[in-house]
Amino acid sequence: MIIDCHGHYTTAPADLQKYRDSQIAGLKDPAYVPQKANLKISDDQIRDSLEGAQLKFQRERGTDLTIFSPRASAMAHHIGNETTSQNWTQACNDLIKRVVDLYPDNFVGVCQLPQSPGVAPVNSAAELERCVKELGFIGCNLNPDPSGGNWTAPPLTDKHWYPLYEKMVELDVPAMVHVSSSCNPNFHATGAHYINADTTAFMQFITGDVFKDFPTIKFIIPHGGGAVPYHWGRYRGLAQDMKRPLLPDMMKNNVFFDTCVYHQPGIDLLFKVVPRDNILFGSEMVGAVRGIDPETGNYYDDTKRYVEALGLTDSEKKKIYEGNARRAYPRLGAILDKKK
Ligand SMILES: [Zn+2]
Repeated sequence: MIIDCHGHYTTAPADLQKYRDSQIAGLKDPAYVPQKANLKISDDQIRDSLEGAQLKFQRERGTDLTIFSPRASAMAHHIGNETTSQNWTQACNDLIKRVVDLYPDNFVGVCQLPQSPGVAPVNSAAELERCVKELGFIGCNLNPDPSGGNWTAPPLTDKHWYPLYEKMVELDVPAMVHVSSSCNPNFHATGAHYINADTTAFMQFITGDVFKDFPTIKFIIPHGGGAVPYHWGRYRGLAQDMKRPLLPDMMKNNVFFDTCVYHQPGIDLLFKVVPRDNILFGSEMVGAVRGIDPETGNYYDDTKRYVEALGLTDSEKKKIYEGNARRAYPRLGAILDKKK
């Protein structure tokens, strides 16, 4: 089985964005009270939004199951207040649940969290619990920078985050460390802010004691771990100077990178330096980079091609495509085993 650990509902029906637009427009009116969504999206609209996109690419590329979450760039936790974020998040998560119910063989849900700048992360615990226990989701996307590019929150290793980590551990779900849109013009969202955040999160993990304090907690750092594989020697050296654990020991059962690196040399390097027990297959389709690479004639985000070209053994491929995902998402196994 080939599990794509990284997919977002980037093609959601227009009504979802209409609701969001009305939320944002309402913020200009001081008398506005944020409303919960009352979306009138039909099952057919959901099917239409997926059949020509994510499902088509799954079939064409030969992947089986996508771990699916709301559109990351649209989380925009910096917009409005906690209630704005709460209502928006619930609407997005409920729509993912409908996708999973319509296509249980193709998608498993991961939730957005109702984070908001300056608000304690633990305030997202109730929505996480609802998504895991009531909607059957297996993880969450955790935004390390709810300010959208201004980095006003403490590092992920700070006790600020710990009460939410306790809930993740209790529910046995991982978080993909995933920023959202950038309201800082210095950082292009998917080209700079995302990659910065991935790199930043990894460096934070090196310096802190999260995995000593939460031995079973799991984080996925997407986009191939940002700049980390390319600068592996720098991070090894920094960890050594700081008398921190070796990187493979630090990552072990706690930190995973995906394969959302959109060219062969990048994937070659990822597999050369990062332990193979810590790499999950992912494509982030339909996502940030949607074009066809003129050098190869293939979609940039058709990441399975790059993995196939590595010449891995069958058992290594099984690990990258399925085994590691089962380890990173402990609740996935029960869902997969039920399908058999
Ligand atoms: Zn993503």
